[in-house]
Amino acid sequence: MTDNCPSCPQEQIRPIAEQRDDTQVSHLYRCPDCGETWSTNRDLRAYGEAA
Ligand SMILES: [Zn+2]
Repeated sequence: MTDNCPSCPQEQIRPIAEQRDDTQVSHLYRCPDCGETWSTNRDLRAYGEAA
């Protein structure tokens, strides 16, 4: 799941790391353009992926 850089116009950046638990998935991103790093947490239930 790609995300957009919060610091520059770079879009559709692929995560460099992923952590999952039963209900949430966390993705770590690093912008190849400006070097910004950030992470997102998503509730898997919102995507219908929860077991
Ligand atoms: Zn950037």
